[in-house]
Amino acid sequence: MKKLVILGGGYGGMQLLSSIIPHLPYNLMVILIDKVPFHFLKTEYYAIAAGTVQDQSLQIPFPKHPQVSIIQAEVEKIDLEKNKVWLSDGNPIAYNDLIIGLGCEDDYHQVEGADKYTHSIQTISKSKHTHKHLQGLPDNGKVAIIGGGLSGVELAAELAESKKLQIALFDRGNAILSAYPKKVRNYVERWFETKKVIVYKNSEITRIEENLVYNHGSPMPFDCIVWTAGIQPNKIVRALDVEKDKKGRIFLSKYHHLPSNEHVFVVGDCASLNHPPSAQLARGQAEQIAFVLISKWQGKLLPYHMPPIKLKGVLGSLGKKDGFGLIAKTALTGRIPRLIKRGVLWKDKIKKAK
Ligand SMILES: Cc1cc2nc3c(=O)[nH]c(=O)nc-3n(C[C@H](O)[C@H](O)[C@H](O)COP(=O)(O)OP(=O)(O)OC[C@H]3O[C@@H](n4cnc5c(N)ncnc54)[C@H](O)[C@@H]3O)c2cc1C
Repeated sequence: MKKLVILGGGYGGMQLLSSIIPHLPYNLMVILIDKVPFHFLKTEYYAIAAGTVQDQSLQIPFPKHPQVSIIQAEVEKIDLEKNKVWLSDGNPIAYNDLIIGLGCEDDYHQVEGADKYTHSIQTISKSKHTHKHLQGLPDNGKVAIIGGGLSGVELAAELAESKKLQIALFDRGNAILSAYPKKVRNYVERWFETKKVIVYKNSEITRIEENLVYNHGSPMPFDCIVWTAGIQPNKIVRALDVEKDKKGRIFLSKYHHLPSNEHVFVVGDCASLNHPPSAQLARGQAEQIAFVLISKWQGKLLPYHMPPIKLKGVLGSLGKKDGFGLIAKTALTGRIPRLIKRGVLWKDKIKKAK
């Protein structure tokens, strides 16, 4: 039996597995390795941290199939020379084809103390830990969120709506949500004003100490500091000696494998692609990898050009009833984008649970 090993059952890994299952050749075994026992809907981790959602509602079982084994274990190292993956318990897993979909980690941009003194919403366990800390704060406790992108904004909004806290959101740009049109940015800023969330624009976080954020060198006290100011590929990927872009993401061929090895594919946040990393991108790319693998199994020629990955747009939440988004270049604000986001999440749960 040949072995296809998938590292990570996140958006990329899970989509890939679901797409190839109906087409598996009889002589192939698939092994999916993840440190957590379920696929988690990571896009909702801000709500786990805020305590407005339980982790059970975001977990989706991995698909079952006689040719698929799920191993719950931590990957420690990938040996591309020997075609082996090493697990933290010391066990090696050999592969014929490998999919690397290990996602990302916080990028602290060398800000001293940020790794030690800030909380995170990048994994389910870190989000739960962040929630534990936030839950223990007294009324009017002060929370700093560093990073005014999608996840920082969603966390600030969810906390502002659900808890009696003083929330400060720091961003180094002259606007939060810099990737969105002005209409969206202004709407979100006004929403924050009504909820008394203080937005610090043009901030420069130079250092973090226990309960202290240094903005432009001046210390500001907080009871909890959450880091949402950037991501980098998983450390297993950072340790690989392959060609990467400036963000540490792996350069790939048009068929999404390493340029020097057609048996090793990279999906999602670890891959260098033409769009910023997102769950949607990871899924779209996974569908293309599935197409490449299935074509190979069926002896079909691959097209000379792969089609561009289609992205539908991004939606964000401002608590449970309000939101924003950018779909087909149209800026959306208010209840409608929130309702669409809820619908997308619901559809995801139903589709994946099948
Ligand atoms: C709060 C928040 C909100 C977001 N909102 C959106 C949104 O609205 N829309 C959108 O498109 N994107 C959103 N994103 C981004 C999106 O979640 C990621 O881009 C997406 O999860 C990437 O998919 P992936 O498959 O590369 O990695 P992931 O989905 O992160 O999956 C990686 C998997 O690898 C496993 N893993 C990691 N390391 C190891 C190891 N050493 N051993 C074993 N297993 C390991 C993890 O457990 C995980 O299951 C959001 C992210 C956050 C944090």
